[in-house]
Amino acid sequence: MSVRHDYIAEHSTARSRLRGHMTWLGLGLCASLAGVTLALIGENADAGRQPTIAQTQQELNIAASDTAPTSLAAAYADTQPYDTDLTAELEEKQEDWLTIRVKPGDTLSGLFDTYNLPTEDWMTIVRLNKDAKQLTRMRSGEELRVLRDGSGHIAELRYDLSKIRTLQIIRTDEGFISNVLEAPVERRVAYAAGNIDSSLFLAARRAGLTNQLAMELAEVFGWDIDFALDIRSGDRFSVVYEEIYCEGEKVGNGDILAAEFVNRHKKHQAFRYTMDDGVTQYFDAEGNAMRKAFLRTPVDFARISSHFNLRRRHPILNRIRAHKGVDYAAPTGTPIKATGDGKIAFRGRKRGYGNVIILKHGSRYSTLYGHMSRFARDLRTGSSVKQGQIIGYVGSTGLATGPHLHYEFRVNNVHVNPLTVKIPAADPLPGQYRADYLHGIQPLVAQLATLAEIQLADASE
Ligand SMILES: [Zn+2]
Repeated sequence: MSVRHDYIAEHSTARSRLRGHMTWLGLGLCASLAGVTLALIGENADAGRQPTIAQTQQELNIAASDTAPTSLAAAYADTQPYDTDLTAELEEKQEDWLTIRVKPGDTLSGLFDTYNLPTEDWMTIVRLNKDAKQLTRMRSGEELRVLRDGSGHIAELRYDLSKIRTLQIIRTDEGFISNVLEAPVERRVAYAAGNIDSSLFLAARRAGLTNQLAMELAEVFGWDIDFALDIRSGDRFSVVYEEIYCEGEKVGNGDILAAEFVNRHKKHQAFRYTMDDGVTQYFDAEGNAMRKAFLRTPVDFARISSHFNLRRRHPILNRIRAHKGVDYAAPTGTPIKATGDGKIAFRGRKRGYGNVIILKHGSRYSTLYGHMSRFARDLRTGSSVKQGQIIGYVGSTGLATGPHLHYEFRVNNVHVNPLTVKIPAADPLPGQYRADYLHGIQPLVAQLATLAEIQLADASE
């Protein structure tokens, strides 16, 4: 045990960046991990809640304030524990608090009527802000706690927005103010692994992962694996992720810390890392970005209606004319995303293209998006755009038989097939983080190896 504590003390920097969860993998825990995970990927794994590996908590639980602000973590980043004085006061005068339980059909104004609370108070309160507005959407079974002052007015009101967030409205001399109190949360490491017969989502569910985590897993590897086309029976995955607990009760999942995906015998690994500027990204074991410089497609859920083809008969002109791009059929108004970070080199109308945007991505690459119904607001020639940013909407302006996006990809000004061009990886981990990263991921690498061993042993039984 003391060894692990030493480790934590010694590597506190790596700990906060990699979120502290690589520190536990002792030999003893390997054994218990083996037991639980076997159950997890065994045949009965889909019965009820996923068994996860609970570690010795004092060693693993990192206070939320200790962690980097990242997606879900951001929700807890500003966690302020309940004000102890207020809580003490609350307990002291428990009898002064009125607890109102919402029944079916109740409205906030109705409840105020029933309990003889001043109408002007609720009118002011629900207009305070977005959090307070949630009071108008209370559901049956929820509770409202109200403290009244001597004149029967509301001195304080509390309402649980979630298992860890409580809305607090307090009367001050300047009027009502609202706070959101957040209970302290703990993050615990959990594991899941699965073998795929047909779809990632089925296997993920069987392994006890929520759909949300399965989506995140698919996102991490989505740059290298097309989950609609590339998945084969025999593929497998393992994930090290966080679960969020509040007062010993699980309230949600955190982030994927590390994951492995074996697709057609090729192993992909990814590790989460947060840099000093707060940007979090996944990198492989060598520090290469999982993310590519370009998205696979500029529109979601669209069907390819015409491929890159240098000898295509044009549907409107009815003569052989090279189709130097890919067409994505999608309803008018479908958002179009910039496939890479870049600058708008052209935004306007161009004959056959109709409304078109051309993006320059550094000196080598450019992309073109044609037939748009309209452009995204606030974008001009010269504007910078980020990968994934919406730049316009599908339409049928220019020479188009129906609504679709015409997408071109050029390398050194030569048209290439965007579906087959080898897309460069996004920038790797900056050099100054390299040593920290490579050192920090070691325990996660070991955990993934352990999970893989267990899976392989299980599969060969
Ligand atoms: Zn086209």
